[in-house]
Amino acid sequence: MSEPAKPAAGAAGGALKTAGRSGRSTELPEHLKAYKGVWVFIEHDRGHVHPVSWELMGEARKLADKLQVDVAGVLLGGPDEALDAFAKEAYAYGADRCYVVRDPVLKGYRNEPFTKGLTDLVNKFQPEIMLLGATTMGRDLAGSVATTLGTGLTADCTELNIDGRALAATRPTFGGSLLCTIMTLAYRPQMATVRPRVMSMPRRDETRGGDIVEMPLGMVEADIVTKLLDFIPDANRNTVNLAYADIIISGGKGLKNAENFRLVWELAKVLGAEVGATRAVVQAGWTEAERQVGQTGKTVRPKLYIAAGISGAIQHRVGMEGSDVIVAINTDPNAPIFDFAHHGIVGNAMQVLPVLTQAFRTHLDKRIRKVA
Ligand SMILES: Cc1cc2nc3c(=O)[nH]c(=O)nc-3n(C[C@H](O)[C@H](O)[C@H](O)COP(=O)(O)OP(=O)(O)OC[C@H]3O[C@@H](n4cnc5c(N)ncnc54)[C@H](O)[C@@H]3O)c2cc1C
Repeated sequence: MSEPAKPAAGAAGGALKTAGRSGRSTELPEHLKAYKGVWVFIEHDRGHVHPVSWELMGEARKLADKLQVDVAGVLLGGPDEALDAFAKEAYAYGADRCYVVRDPVLKGYRNEPFTKGLTDLVNKFQPEIMLLGATTMGRDLAGSVATTLGTGLTADCTELNIDGRALAATRPTFGGSLLCTIMTLAYRPQMATVRPRVMSMPRRDETRGGDIVEMPLGMVEADIVTKLLDFIPDANRNTVNLAYADIIISGGKGLKNAENFRLVWELAKVLGAEVGATRAVVQAGWTEAERQVGQTGKTVRPKLYIAAGISGAIQHRVGMEGSDVIVAINTDPNAPIFDFAHHGIVGNAMQVLPVLTQAFRTHLDKRIRKVA
């Protein structure tokens, strides 16, 4: 749905035509020029806001400052949910205002009432940019809201910027080998989703405050086809919290087999770290898919990322290059991972990992004895 950034050239010898794909105009129609402001959909579930909403609030603030407009958070939920408390948090992370829709049918996410709530708010208050987390909920909602509004949506962005007055949303393409920047020129709002941890968490400012604008939903339970009968937590639900882990030890195909991959677990145990892996390792069945880091896995931003036997392919790199410190262990001194790792160990991971595990164990034991 998004339009190309530049108008296409006209036929040979003709003047430049302002035309986008299929000859459609790339000019913003007059009635859409009134759309102003940057919005963030604040995702919450069972009393907790998803941190990606605050990461996006930080980005929204930067975009809005460039455009010299306000930032608003959007909160949809049941009357007994802590929406006012979430709004206060939103101000601390950079919002100037929150649009709130409270209705019993908004308790627990369902596509139909959330799509109606959000599209009605957009049609009434007319934001120029709308950001959502690329989570299960955000992806579901963004798609239906964009289609209902008939506007462009760029999914899984890795960078957001302003070009002129338009949102320049950058995302990987062609299997991660290229980055493309997509702009929605002739429609509003310009919508984008961003995966958790792609953007950094902004600093809180507890002194900031803001307004609340309430709007009714105008929908009753009988209008909704999907029924939420009960919530049963999945007993087998994966508790891997890779995206928000402070330390990650990741293993790659260089570890040769599943038995050697256990060395990654041993170091992780000593450091209280999470275990990550490349796609090659997941495909080999050495660990579960939830641990895959990269373009088709998780995006991570730990304080320390140790990569053992990982080549550093672009599809892996995009998921972990935001780490504060990257330590790479690889036998090949020309492995691509050494181009962006902060510290490199050229060596056999099967020898280096046990040495690191033992060294950290001794060091941490000494510190614990000193404290005691
Ligand atoms: C559309 C698409 C999406 C993808 N998404 C992802 C993704 O999300 N995440 C991801 O990780 N990949 C992804 N990939 C795959 C990616 O391109 C690489 O193939 C993959 O990351 C390679 O994994 P690896 O580094 O474990 O293995 P390899 O590329 O095989 O690298 C192994 C490395 O180990 C080193 N090594 C060998 N022996 C030792 C030893 N004894 N000690 C230390 N080092 C040693 C080698 O020098 C080599 O550098 C994707 C690919 C495509 C096409």
